[in-house]
Amino acid sequence: MNPRVVVLGAGFGGLELATILSDSLGDRIDLTLIDKSETFVFGYSKLDVMFGRATTEAVRLPYRDIVKPGVRFRREVITAIDPVARRVTTEAGGYDADSLVVALGADYDLNATPGLAEGGNEFYSLAGAERLREVIPAFERGHAIVGVTSAPFKCPPAPSEAALLLHDRLVARGVRDACEISLVMPFGVPIPPSPDTSRALLAAFAERGIRYVPDRVVRALDPSRRVAVLGDGSEMPYDLFLGIPKHCVPKVVAASGMTEGGWIPVDKKTLATRFPGVYAVGDVTSVGTPKAGVFSEGAARVVAASILAELQGGERPAPYAGAGACYVEFGAGRVGRVDVDFLSGLKPTGSFTEPSAALAREKHHFGSSRRARWFGL
Ligand SMILES: Cc1cc2nc3c(=O)[nH]c(=O)nc-3n(C[C@H](O)[C@H](O)[C@H](O)COP(=O)(O)OP(=O)(O)OC[C@H]3O[C@@H](n4cnc5c(N)ncnc54)[C@H](O)[C@@H]3O)c2cc1C
Repeated sequence: MNPRVVVLGAGFGGLELATILSDSLGDRIDLTLIDKSETFVFGYSKLDVMFGRATTEAVRLPYRDIVKPGVRFRREVITAIDPVARRVTTEAGGYDADSLVVALGADYDLNATPGLAEGGNEFYSLAGAERLREVIPAFERGHAIVGVTSAPFKCPPAPSEAALLLHDRLVARGVRDACEISLVMPFGVPIPPSPDTSRALLAAFAERGIRYVPDRVVRALDPSRRVAVLGDGSEMPYDLFLGIPKHCVPKVVAASGMTEGGWIPVDKKTLATRFPGVYAVGDVTSVGTPKAGVFSEGAARVVAASILAELQGGERPAPYAGAGACYVEFGAGRVGRVDVDFLSGLKPTGSFTEPSAALAREKHHFGSSRRARWFGL
């Protein structure tokens, strides 16, 4: 019988893991990849949808296009995970694993921020981005707030990108002078591990008249008074609120007994959980890297190498370095890049590459190369 690997979640982490194991073992593995969705969407595509740069259909990559030796994709909702027995239950049946990998990402809890669902918007889900696509063109005067409601949150540059891209949209429509933009962030500077990236973003905000509100979160919205209440009790009036909702593990993970402090703890070097034969990668963990696709993908590579070493008796892989590059949209078609390393030194470090049209092309290649590897498209 072929070794049974069950991968929960076909996001950045699950797709990379399934691809490597299929490429290496082909039909000599029995890998089941389970996801409740019909399609994968890159996180950054939500900005494209929200600002009308791409249609929803164009950014959806259907899982039915995954054809890989040894891999079966199952579109099913996972309802229970037993990490001791390495058994997974879905609405359609059950799966037993020799190796189980949890890559279920982070969900959102809108209700953790009173008033957000009724009086605000979020752009972290595709549905939220789609709604904003209709809302933003109708905004022509007043105060827009891009506000983070709690940390950790996915893709730390994304709120800054949203503020800069909103500026561009308002300029293009000739209404920027009638609008204010504020960005409420829980950090003193936009990207704490990279002072150069933070300096460049703060300079871009200053040039465009975007107000950066540091070290604060948005605790609640009062839709009747159209006021955002910040963590320190101060208030900011708003006419358009673009929120980053509180993140949490999916309910099925919370119920599995695998979490501590809200996330799945893992060995930082191997991504192993405390349950033998069970790994966790990406946003669902508290590994200590930002919640971003590049880090989920890097963690998946280490787990794939460990599983291959177990099966083939090879050497254990080098420890997970927690390093990756994130692209940062500065507007006007220019993209910067921050290269960060979270785990190999004593403290996180980051370097910055200035925004350019060349990096916009590199970002495009980042997406198209993954689409080709994972989906064959
Ligand atoms: C606006 C925005 C911009 C971003 N920009 C970038 C960027 O430029 N670069 C970057 O690297 N990252 C970016 N990200 C972050 C990136 O999208 C995530 O960090 C990444 O997708 C996490 O990968 P993952 O594999 O851990 O989880 P995900 O990719 O979230 O995958 C988890 C999967 O699990 C599935 N799932 C969950 N619960 C169940 C269940 N009960 N049953 C079955 N399936 C289930 C989900 O459907 C999902 O497909 C951005 C995110 C946002 C919101």
